Amino acid sequence: MIEIITKLRQDFDSLLESASDPKQLEQIRIDFLGKKGKLPALMKELRNASPEEKPQLGKDINLLKQHVENKINSKGACLGTKSSKKSDETFDTTLPGRKELTGTLHPITQVMEEITSIFFGLGFQVEEGPEIETDYYNFEALNIPKDHPARDMQDTFYIEDETVLRTHTSPVQIHTMENREPPLRIIAPGKVYRCDSDVSHTPMFHQIEGLMVDEGVSFSHLKGIMNIFLQEVFGKDTKIRFRPSFFPFTCPSAEVDIQCVMCSGKGCRVCSQTGWLEILGAGMVDPAVFKAVGYDSEKWTGFAFGLGIERIAMLKFGINDIRLFFENDLRFLKQFPNL
Ligand SMILES: [Zn+2]
Repeated sequence: MIEIITKLRQDFDSLLESASDPKQLEQIRIDFLGKKGKLPALMKELRNASPEEKPQLGKDINLLKQHVENKINSKGACLGTKSSKKSDETFDTTLPGRKELTGTLHPITQVMEEITSIFFGLGFQVEEGPEIETDYYNFEALNIPKDHPARDMQDTFYIEDETVLRTHTSPVQIHTMENREPPLRIIAPGKVYRCDSDVSHTPMFHQIEGLMVDEGVSFSHLKGIMNIFLQEVFGKDTKIRFRPSFFPFTCPSAEVDIQCVMCSGKGCRVCSQTGWLEILGAGMVDPAVFKAVGYDSEKWTGFAFGLGIERIAMLKFGINDIRLFFENDLRFLKQFPNL
């Protein structure tokens, strides 16, 4: 058996000598160390050896095994180095590097932040409220009682009879007034929900609500603030007009239009040939709302306004389908690098 071991070692050495690529080396490894290889077979034969011979033979086989493993490893490293050297030579150092992809803020977030910072400059504070509201905060306290026809104006997602996904950011007004005394100037940006879906409506969209309450606040304050705000967003030359309107929680109420940003008032498809675009709703806070939160409407007056962020973003960026904002298509989102 000792001769077999010696012979095997010689065979291995000469085979290894002639191996010139990793494939051949792998074959040698399988032939000698593999499950059905020569060394495992030798180990099996050790069982037939006499008890006196066994320890020495076992030792010899183990030494051979170590020898085979070490040689294969070092030869492998050698062949491996050669091949990696080869790929080094084909590495083109003149190729430009791959650029890291950097994320940008979503266009809605960008517009929301822009509007927030304009009002921040006018002394308004940001307030937030829950997206799941009770019927009381979403309707009742805003002068929209159960039988009020205004409830038909918006299709509401009801969670339970008295619990809804808020249909506007106006409930934040009520929460704020319940917890704080005037004077106050707040804006409340956030998500709102309505059962609606087409090119200009999505079931979830964003609004910003504004509220200013103080002694002697009048409609002219509202007009002044809206002027500053809309000219900041759409440009200094933007013309603005107020049209009488109706909201249950403001009186008097107005719709605010800007001169069409697409055609500069000449009339186009976007403005339905009118030259004007409806942009937000506003008005003086109805005394009934002040009563609901315990404010003295003889002492305090205030105005409120609300606008849709998507609508502003669509006009600002010339986007004609609101659903593009929520499809997460990178080809769309990449067009809005951070401002
Ligand atoms: Zn137009």
